[in-house]
Amino acid sequence: MGSFRMQVGNAEILALSDMNIGIGAPMQELWPKVPPDAWKAYAELYPDAFDGDRMRLEVACYLVRSQGKTILIDTGYGPGPIRAIGGRRGELMLDLATRKVTDDDVDIVFLSHLHLDHVGWNTVRRGDGWVPTFPNARYICHEADLEHFRKEEVQAAQTYRFMYMFVDPLDEQGLLDTVSGDFDLTDEVKAVHTPGHTPGHMSVLVTSGGERANIQGDVLIHPAQVTEEEWNSRFDVDWDTANVTRRKLLDQVEAEGATVVSCHFPLPGFGRVVRSQGKRYWQTGL
Ligand SMILES: [Zn+2]
Repeated sequence: MGSFRMQVGNAEILALSDMNIGIGAPMQELWPKVPPDAWKAYAELYPDAFDGDRMRLEVACYLVRSQGKTILIDTGYGPGPIRAIGGRRGELMLDLATRKVTDDDVDIVFLSHLHLDHVGWNTVRRGDGWVPTFPNARYICHEADLEHFRKEEVQAAQTYRFMYMFVDPLDEQGLLDTVSGDFDLTDEVKAVHTPGHTPGHMSVLVTSGGERANIQGDVLIHPAQVTEEEWNSRFDVDWDTANVTRRKLLDQVEAEGATVVSCHFPLPGFGRVVRSQGKRYWQTGL
């Protein structure tokens, strides 16, 4: 396991873990168009991304420090207990405490998208209501995701209904900002619309001192997708758009030699796209 901290010029990225889970559902159910045998080669290449013949998923979040701002990217599954994954509870707050980061330190919570495993620590329960976990933070997401995840049929199809707990209270308390396109969080940190996984999915580019990192979010949720860019998981909302976005992002990071940061890959999720015999592969490490 490599370093959990990376420097990008004057900016810093810390990898944080909320949890690591072996997914109970068979691959065929999660990846309907991928023949089960096609995973074997990738299980040899990326053993930490598998749990036997099933998928192992890290749920990481990232803390970016840039120009005096502390930016938390995504908030994991949250305190739970989450029945769908064996009553597990997220450990992001423990991990932050270990790094001596307090709730008060966070200036911006940037949500790459609004799936449950990215918004769980947005709020904490107080009495009958929900209050922000990070009291000094502005929370930011794309308006297309807010619209999408508020739809009745979309909420009904999730693991459980979560918008009323983790997102709507922030909006009601005036703490949520929505963006409609690319957006500068600091001069070094730029959010870029990368739709497909969800309509308002965003990645975060960190550029400083001639160095680059791309915190890609869920454009890629498994290292095999670096090679198999048309493999959609059932979590991709719009398969065709997700594939176009994935190819574009892979082309870009490969051409730039950027470090890629991947919250669902084995920790710490820092790596690069490399080429071997005409194909792209994930190479873990800085
Ligand atoms: Zn996710």
